[in-house]
Amino acid sequence: MTPYFEFRDFPEGITTAVEAALLRAARSNRFILGEEVGAFEEEFAAATEATYSIAVGNGLDALTIALKAVGVGAGDEVILPANTFIATANAVVQAGGTPILVEPDSFTYNLTAAAEKAVTARTKAILPVHLYGQACEMGPLVELATKYKLAIVEDFAQAQGASWAGQPVGSFGKANATSFYPTKNLGALGDAGAITTSDETVAAFARKYRNYGESEKYHNELIGVNSRLDTLQAAVLRVKLQHLDNLNAERQRLAQVYLQELQSIDDLVLPKTAPNCSHVYHIFNIRTPQRDQLKVWLQERGIHTAIHYPVPIHLQPAYTFLKYKPGDFPVAEELAATSLSLPLFPGMRYEEQEHVIQSIKSFFK
Ligand SMILES: *Cc1c(COP(=O)(O)O)cnc(C)c1O
Repeated sequence: MTPYFEFRDFPEGITTAVEAALLRAARSNRFILGEEVGAFEEEFAAATEATYSIAVGNGLDALTIALKAVGVGAGDEVILPANTFIATANAVVQAGGTPILVEPDSFTYNLTAAAEKAVTARTKAILPVHLYGQACEMGPLVELATKYKLAIVEDFAQAQGASWAGQPVGSFGKANATSFYPTKNLGALGDAGAITTSDETVAAFARKYRNYGESEKYHNELIGVNSRLDTLQAAVLRVKLQHLDNLNAERQRLAQVYLQELQSIDDLVLPKTAPNCSHVYHIFNIRTPQRDQLKVWLQERGIHTAIHYPVPIHLQPAYTFLKYKPGDFPVAEELAATSLSLPLFPGMRYEEQEHVIQSIKSFFK
């Protein structure tokens, strides 16, 4: 039996530390925002090498608020990859903008400066997603944004702790967004997210907008939303943040074992990392034209896998209004048809991973 994902006590003692933090926070009699959230925001900003972080209710809200903060509104186009989680596109629509989809790079599966083709007079922002945990090649994207005076908004929901050329993701854009959904590399015990920025105006907007647009209690400067972080979640995240590098190193170690053991199978495409792009393996993605059969084969052997993502954004029923059609993004469509995510999580046991590897080898024999 190998689960796709499970919480384990890794590094040893983290469970006790999380439980202690929860109890302390519960007894503090603060439930929403407060000092604990403020402390987490400072620590997360420092870890991301951004000046500010603003904690919110979830990753979708973080993205929506980040886009609004850089000025995305009605009539504005935002460029994003066709192969991402639905939230990335939904945030653009929620902010009032129009998602403009582009093909990912066929090697890294990430958005690159080739997105220049999609820039128009209405483009306001570029929304790169550090997919599966691999940092996008940010240098060329920053140059592209500068050339056309566009804002970059990074979606680093899958890549906390990854970096491009040594600089952490979440620090390149004018406003950036991440999610602390429980299974993310830095996960809460419920919904949570954050915006990071080094722009004071963006930070001030986000801080007000997440809490009804309040500048002070019952004084509302704008029509905001309620997307505040719970004190309990901040307490948990503060503990986990201290271990983020360890957790990511363990993911990288497990990924190396897969890469080493599966490299001899010709019919498999394994993850590739570009120079300067670090990869924290939120998802370990393999590709094969026999994806569906392999998934069933593994399931029969007690191995749970996942598909990220079976339907690209342009073919989702919710997005027919964008008028894309099958064949518009061949790389994204190929990824959707052939991708399989293998079990990989901190605390995964040797025998569990060995079982996955041997089962894949026997499938291809
Ligand atoms: C998880 C995720 C989100 C959204 O996060 P939620 O907290 O679930 O709203 C956005 N973008 C990407 C790429 C994600 O993986």
